[in-house]
Amino acid sequence: MKMSLNNPPRLSPEERARRRHQAEQCHQAEEAGCFGLIGGWAYSRKLRRDLSAEEASHQDEPFLCRVCYSDAVLRKCIEKRHHYAHHARLSPAVSDGETVLHQGCLDEILQALKLRFPAGNWAKNRPIPAKPDKNLGAVVPDISGRLGGPNDPPLVIEAQVSSLSIAAIIKRSAEYTKRRIPILWIVPLKEDLGEAPFRPRLYERYLHTMYHGRVYYWQPGFGTQLLAVHYGVAERHIPLSEWYDKEVEEERSAGGYDKPYKVIKRPVTVPKLDLVSQFYRLNRDEFRPWNERKTVPSLAIWKDKLADWWDKSEDEAFRRRFKEDNLPQERRKAPRPTADWTHYHF
Ligand SMILES: [Zn+2]
Repeated sequence: MKMSLNNPPRLSPEERARRRHQAEQCHQAEEAGCFGLIGGWAYSRKLRRDLSAEEASHQDEPFLCRVCYSDAVLRKCIEKRHHYAHHARLSPAVSDGETVLHQGCLDEILQALKLRFPAGNWAKNRPIPAKPDKNLGAVVPDISGRLGGPNDPPLVIEAQVSSLSIAAIIKRSAEYTKRRIPILWIVPLKEDLGEAPFRPRLYERYLHTMYHGRVYYWQPGFGTQLLAVHYGVAERHIPLSEWYDKEVEEERSAGGYDKPYKVIKRPVTVPKLDLVSQFYRLNRDEFRPWNERKTVPSLAIWKDKLADWWDKSEDEAFRRRFKEDNLPQERRKAPRPTADWTHYHF
């Protein structure tokens, strides 16, 4: 039967609420990078078994997502369905409401570039008009100018704050590429990123892929320097535990090993880099990251000249480990608790 767009099926209020909840859960899962909590199940470390969000209470804490091994929090909602959410440290990135911090970042970089290249015509929020005959849209780069005089190469810098969607990042980057201007995306921070593992947001993961495994963070006082961060593998230690299994009437044991987190990463850094002398223009081909749904189009990017500074074998092992639960498949089916999961003792 063909569905008519003019006559959408009428939904009951319950069905509408259910679909809204599902869409919200999908959105949150995409942001977290893990679809393991969508079905409304998590593992209670206290009770040593899976619990649905309906039957669970805060007394059963702590909870764990069984797909990515990160901590989960139970959200008991009056208006909405009970559910679980991923709980992990985020990077202290400037958010879209923090205009003063965002503008302060742009002003500091702008001043530093003006000092270095007085003839570079550096400006903040200077519009580049559309050229419809050449299929070029209008853009307003955060910072734009030339690395020298009028005949030297141009550069645009965009400071990502969280309101910008992946689609907007792609669209803007592609627009500059059409104009043959390389783009440098940076993420302004409010404070030190620190060395502890954290959960990169969706846009951070996307930039990580776009720049071949690094994200450029900036902090007040950095001027034209950037902290390049690779998202290395972080592991959770599963302690050894032994228990008596009543069903099979025997002693069992599990744990005593490390499991890689799926969505929590360890920052692997190098000494700060200068965005002028230690970067170059790189034209990269379109490709689709192994763990993301959205293709990265062919782009002209402004990338550091360093050879990859992290342990690549670790990354390979991680990819092999998580290959089977590629995101597009996860989204279709809500995961059910598996038998062997109940025997993991955390
Ligand atoms: Zn998870």
